[in-house]
Amino acid sequence: MRRLGLTGLCLVLAACARHPRPSLIGPSSAPVMLPPQLFNGGVPRTAEEWRAVGREATTLLSQYVRINTTNPPGNELKTAQWLKAVLAREGIESQIFEPRPGKANLYARVRGDGSARPLIFLNHMDVVLAAPEYWKVDPFSGVVKDGYVWGRGALDMKGEAIAQLMTLITLKRAGVPLKRDVIFLATSDEEVGAGVGAGWFVEAHPELVRDAEFLINEGGTIRADVNGRIEYYGVGTTEKSPFWLDVTARGTSGHGSRPTPDNPVHRLVRALSRIANHQTPLIVTPAVERYFRDLATIERDPARRAWFADIRAALRDSAAVRAVTADLTYNALLRNTISITGLRGSDQTNVIPPVATAAIDVRLLPGQEPATLLAELVRVVSDTAVSITPQGPSWPATESPTDTELFQAIVAAARARDPKALVTTPPLTGFTDSHYFRRLGIVSYGLSPFPLNEAESRGVHGNDERVSLEDLNFGVRFMYDVVSRAVVR
Ligand SMILES: [Zn+2]
Repeated sequence: MRRLGLTGLCLVLAACARHPRPSLIGPSSAPVMLPPQLFNGGVPRTAEEWRAVGREATTLLSQYVRINTTNPPGNELKTAQWLKAVLAREGIESQIFEPRPGKANLYARVRGDGSARPLIFLNHMDVVLAAPEYWKVDPFSGVVKDGYVWGRGALDMKGEAIAQLMTLITLKRAGVPLKRDVIFLATSDEEVGAGVGAGWFVEAHPELVRDAEFLINEGGTIRADVNGRIEYYGVGTTEKSPFWLDVTARGTSGHGSRPTPDNPVHRLVRALSRIANHQTPLIVTPAVERYFRDLATIERDPARRAWFADIRAALRDSAAVRAVTADLTYNALLRNTISITGLRGSDQTNVIPPVATAAIDVRLLPGQEPATLLAELVRVVSDTAVSITPQGPSWPATESPTDTELFQAIVAAARARDPKALVTTPPLTGFTDSHYFRRLGIVSYGLSPFPLNEAESRGVHGNDERVSLEDLNFGVRFMYDVVSRAVVR
C-alpha cells in the first residue's frame, strides 16, 4: 500500500480546494490516506459535478486495486478495513465479520423510512491471480494511465464495487429521504467457489439480508461496439448452475511393463472418450428465447436476424444450428454443457495405478435435473468399473423476474440516455453469488455499469484488466441514476 501525496493529487484533481482534507485512517500499523471528498453539495446535477464524483471514484478505485486480494489467500480483511474507513468518514457505520483470520465480510446499512423493503449492493473483494510478466503494468499498482485505471479487479469487481459505493455515499451526503434501507455487502471468496463469503454470510446472518427485496451484483453487461456505441444494456436475471463431477475408474495395479486388461487408466480414457463424443441435446429455455429475440432487433445480418427472431424454428435447420452454435456463448446457452477438465492416473510412468480419476465441469440450464444428466452420463459410459459422483451439493439454476420496480428503474435510466436503448436479459453461462440470495426470494440482478467492448471485456480474469475513466464516470452516474429511482422516497 502506498501513501498518496496530497500535493500531487491536487495537481490532478482540480476540485481539491473546496474539500481540502483527505483523512488518515486505518490500523495504526498501515495508515492509508483516503482521497479527498470532491463533491459534497447535495445531489450532483451538472456534468461538472458528476465529473467530480467520477474523479473521486477514480482515486478510490486506484487505492482499492492496490490492496492485493488475490485469492487464495484473499486477505479480504485489509480491504474490509479500508472500506470501513471510507464509509466511516461519511458517517456510515459498518460491521466486519471475520469468519477466519484474514478473511472478512463487511456489512453496512443506510436507513430509509421502512415503507419499502431494502436494496442490497453485493460485491466481492477477492480477485483472481495475475501473472505480472504478461501485463503492461504492475497488476497491483492501480496506476492511472492513458485514460484508464489499470489493475487486477479494475472490472471484476472492484470497479463495480466503487460504482456501488459512490452511489451509497452520494445518497448519504445528499441526505435524500429514502424509502428503502440500502445495504452494502462486500464479501470474500467469490473467486474460489467454496469458502466463507456470500454463502457463509447468508447462512450465518440471514437476519441481516432476508428482508431485502432487491439485490444488485456483478453478472450484467453493457455491451458496446468498437466505437463505444452502446448496443444494449444487459441485466443478469438468470445463470446456469454448476454440477461438477468426479469420474473414477478402478482396476488392477501392477508393473507398467506387464499390461493388464483392466488397467484403470485405459478404462478411464475409454469412458472419457465416450463422454467427449457425447452431444447434449439443444434446449431453448424461455429466458434464452427472449434474449435471442432481443438480439434480433439489433442484428444487422439478415440471415442471423431471422434465426434470432425465432430461435426454435432456426434450430430445426442444420445450417442455422452450425452457425449459431459456433458461437461459444450461444452454444452454452442452448444446452447443458460438459467439459472434461482434470485427469489423474499414476504419479510414476512404470506403475499402473489402482485408480484413475477425471474431473468434469457440467453446467445445467434452468429446469434441468442434475440426476437426469448424471444418469445420462452413466448410460453413455456404460462401464460398471467406472463411477461418476458429484463433487459437492448442487442447486437448480435460479432466475429473477423482470416485472419489478428495480427493473423499471434500469429501463428508465437507460432510456434517459437513449430513448431507443435496448434493455435485455442475457443469461449467464457461468455463475455468481446471486443464487444464494435468489434462493431467499430476493430479486437479484447482475448490473455492471460500464459500457465495455469485446477487447475491454477480455481483461476480466485476463491480462491488462482496466477500466476507462470515461466508463467510470458513466458507471458511477448510471448506477446512481438506477438506484435513486428505486430507493428515493
Ligand atoms: Zn467477479
